[in-house]
Formats: sequence, C-alpha cells, structure tokens
Amino acid sequence: MNENFCIKCGKCCNNIPVDLSSRMLFFDGIQTLTADFEQMLIPKSKTNNITFCSCKYLDNNICTNPNKPEECRIYPSSPFAYLPEDCGYYGLIFSKLEAVKQHIRKLKEEIIHYQALLKSDKTVQRIIDRHQVVINKYKIYGSENW
Ligand code: SF4
Ligand code: SF4
Repeated sequence: MNENFCIKCGKCCNNIPVDLSSRMLFFDGIQTLTADFEQMLIPKSKTNNITFCSCKYLDNNICTNPNKPEECRIYPSSPFAYLPEDCGYYGLIFSKLEAVKQHIRKLKEEIIHYQALLKSDKTVQRIIDRHQVVINKYKIYGSENW
C-alpha cells in the first residue's frame, strides 16, 4: 500500500477474524491461514465459525514483530480487506471495492445484452462465458448480489 493512511490505532491487529476449521484468514481479503500466521494469534472471542484474535506482537497498539509476515506488510491491499471501524484506510478501500462491484455490474449488463443476441449469433456465448468466469471469481465475496 503506497498511501499511508494508518492512524496507528492497532485495531486491525487486535481483531483478526479466522476460521480455524477451514483455515481461512479474513484479513487482506480471504486468505489461507498459514501455520506461521496462526502461531502469532491469541483467540479472544468466537461467533459461529469465526474466531476473533489479537496478535502476540501487538504492544500498546504498536507492532513489535521485526519479521512481519507478508500478510501484514501489504495490509490493507485488497478491496476485500477486513477493516475495523475508524480505520484510516476505510475511504480508500471502500472506493476500491465499489470499483470492483461496478465492473461486475457492467459485466452482468453485458451478459443480458449478449443473451438477447444469442438467438442470431451463437458466437456471443463465448463472451458470456468469459464474463461469467470473472463474476464467479468474486462469488466468495458476494458478486451474485452486486
Ligand atoms: S486499523 Fe487501520 S488505521 Fe488502525 S492500525 Fe490498522 S491499518 Fe492502521
Ligand atoms: S505481526 Fe504486527 S502487523 Fe502483523 S498482526 Fe501482528 S502486530 Fe499486526
């Protein structure tokens, strides 16, 4: 992340959601929970399958880990980053997420357009399929409803 909007509140490192059963990390988008990342985590609370954790390297809202893992070095880079309330990156990530959603909505509009053409031109099915692949890529984030 080039822009530095961090206000050093430490909330992102004190409220990390993970699904330990499926080994998913909901930090910078949906990531695989690695063993290295897991060993830093201190579970705090659990809601359904999601365990909210703090990090053992967080001291007085400051990271004390001299070897931050990649997940932390680039956070928040994904439009799907899990941002705590009041995070300084909220506006930037919100606009990135809106851009992705707009792209998906445009692809859906085009699919409707090409479906209307399908009767006379069967080659447009390939375009529809390509669009659908992109839409499906974001399915885990809810693209079906955008
Ligand atoms: S929640 Fe946002 S503002 Fe707070 S420390 Fe994390 S990145 Fe910085
Ligand atoms: S290693 Fe540092 S940046 Fe990463 S979660 Fe822990 S305290 Fe936060």
